[in-house]
Amino acid sequence: MGKGDKALIDARLRHKELCELVEEYRYSYYVLDAPVVSDGQYDDYERELIQIENEYPELRTPDSPTQKVGGEYTTDFAAISHRSRMMSLDNVFSEEEFLDWVLRVEKGVGSCEFLCELKIDGLAINLTYENGKLISAATRGDGSNGEDVTANVRSIVGVPDRLVATGKIAVPEIVEVRGEIYFPNAEFDKLNAGLVAAGKPPFANPRNAAAGSLRQKDPRVTASRPLRMTVHGVGESAALGFGNQSDAYEILESWGLPISKHFKVLNKTEEVIKFIKFHGDNRHAVEHDIDGIVVKVNALNLQEQLGFTSRAPRWAIAYKYPPEEVNTKLLDIRVSVGRTGRATPFGHMAAVKVAGSVVEMATLHNQEEVERKGVLIGDTVVLRKAGDVIPEIVGPVVALRDGSEKKFVMPTRCPECGSPLGAQKEGDVDLRCPNSQSCPAQLRERIIYLASRAILDIENLGAQAAGALLADGVLINEAKLFALKEKDLLTSEFFTKKDKNGQIELTANANKMLASLEKAKAKQLWRFICALSMRHVGPIAAKSLAKEFRSIDAIEQAPLDVLSQVEGVGPVIAESVKDWFSIKWHREVISNWQKAGVTFQDEEVELGEQTLAGLTIVITGSLDGFTRESAAEAVTSRGAKSAATVSKNTDFVVIGVNAGSKASKAEELGRPILDLAGFIVLLEKGPEAASKVAR
Ligand code: NAD
Repeated sequence: MGKGDKALIDARLRHKELCELVEEYRYSYYVLDAPVVSDGQYDDYERELIQIENEYPELRTPDSPTQKVGGEYTTDFAAISHRSRMMSLDNVFSEEEFLDWVLRVEKGVGSCEFLCELKIDGLAINLTYENGKLISAATRGDGSNGEDVTANVRSIVGVPDRLVATGKIAVPEIVEVRGEIYFPNAEFDKLNAGLVAAGKPPFANPRNAAAGSLRQKDPRVTASRPLRMTVHGVGESAALGFGNQSDAYEILESWGLPISKHFKVLNKTEEVIKFIKFHGDNRHAVEHDIDGIVVKVNALNLQEQLGFTSRAPRWAIAYKYPPEEVNTKLLDIRVSVGRTGRATPFGHMAAVKVAGSVVEMATLHNQEEVERKGVLIGDTVVLRKAGDVIPEIVGPVVALRDGSEKKFVMPTRCPECGSPLGAQKEGDVDLRCPNSQSCPAQLRERIIYLASRAILDIENLGAQAAGALLADGVLINEAKLFALKEKDLLTSEFFTKKDKNGQIELTANANKMLASLEKAKAKQLWRFICALSMRHVGPIAAKSLAKEFRSIDAIEQAPLDVLSQVEGVGPVIAESVKDWFSIKWHREVISNWQKAGVTFQDEEVELGEQTLAGLTIVITGSLDGFTRESAAEAVTSRGAKSAATVSKNTDFVVIGVNAGSKASKAEELGRPILDLAGFIVLLEKGPEAASKVAR
């Protein structure tokens, strides 16, 4: 047997294996609405299959999954034949692959306009209207025949039962409208919570929820689910003679169909790439999941010239974004205790790479959340990590359960100090460890927090060092933290090493930590307020308190009603501050830190001239020469309020580079808009001068 023969046999075997896998996964996904692998994993298999077939074209037979529109129709629903076939889309996964597609298009039809739109992660639907009346709605099925879900689709808000021509173009005798049915992300957790409460299996993700909610035998169930639809094409439309896909959208909209707000017609490839990048960076700004961008040749006559392969149009391509979801095993649900004593269940999972980082843990917030999500220990779960966002367990893959999974039971005692956990107030869902003075977990977390970059920024005082300070008895709580001396650290192995004469000395890191603790003593009051870990008091409240009272003693002495009237404080935080001071050892922490040199006060600053007193100003985007904080400070120190949202009461909206939706809101409400130069006029010359340069 030659080398080539052996390679062909291997390729055949792998090809067969992949075909079986892909068919099986398609069945779980399209028919059972219960995928067992993530989309990313599935796409990898499909891509490998395509690669093998590119290398060995004889394996690309008409029954290969790469040649078919993925999906089947079941006997649970009556079959409906589509008047014109419903296709899939070819995918690209990189700019390079995308540019290759553009070259192929240009080779076929020359340079052209592109219509770019979001690739909604839902399921395809074909609506047929006869004389303007919705007569049928069908899933894609195998592309030729789909399932009759007409009764179910009629219950979807926004899908018109009747098309009414409000523009110039009359509704034709027959029109097939294609679109995507999706499940809004904001409603997903609520749906799963309801299903779990009713003893039914939850859905793994919103796409699944859309498919499962639409493909219901009882239309009343579909009607109870908040499904939505967006149109992204027309099937049989010959009689209409639209010029462009974008014209079609305009006309369909004029008949009352739901069209996406996010599509754009672009001429240049660079602009298309910018569009792809923009939505990749803002994937979560829309109400549904998107898994990529669909780029279509806009002119319908050019679409026709380019035609179709056996499964997809040549005139459109899906640029797929990197997957944000993976499946992994939920090995255990453990409980961690935070710096304010809150006991939080978190999922410990088989380590998995998602959105660029390896994830092993994800918070589950509280016992109620575990129940609502319906996850069991031992489940395969869908884990989502959206960019920089904290990883989240979306839901369980119920189809993979084997009966060995276990329900999580919230412990009744603190896992670190054994104190009985309890709700602080009746009705609280969070359980807390009451032993704030000596629970090792709370102590450790408080030290880690106060040393973090955002608070006091103490070098080399992270989780391990904090753990060592406590475990080696260098500290019994944080009271002596700022009084630490070299001799104290010499007692802990973690902070020491042997010099060349075998003498124990501090490591360079330990020395840096001591120096950093010393330097921190001069930091602003608000940072020290945070460092005390009062419940509900984060940097914003701490800054307000510091600004108002200027010393910790003044805060302690302030009556409850005075505290609660401070802007950014309010009654809940005020009460929490009062509660904190009522505990004796808390006071000792303060006095120990004061003895060690922490002043706990801010210098009295001269208030500048209050040239902007009474104004409300919103700043958005980045402004050259200012940080976000310094721009806000520039207006607040002049007596204005720096607000986060634009309303009709906003006096000025300052718009920098990359300003988001606030800019359009300002225009919508007709509020005066200033650019950087206008902002400087406002600061230097006041509101009247700024009004003259505002747009
Ligand atoms: P596809 O989802 O990649 O692309 C085609 C579909 O995109 C169309 O049918 C249409 O419904 C939809 N679409 C969304 N927005 C659109 C828009 N603006 N314009 C046009 N179409 C738009 O292809 P497919 O064949 O439906 O499914 C393949 C994909 O489904 C895979 O890449 C994978 O992500 C997923 N899948 C997953 C599994 C699994 O087990 N996890 C199994 C099968 C398929």
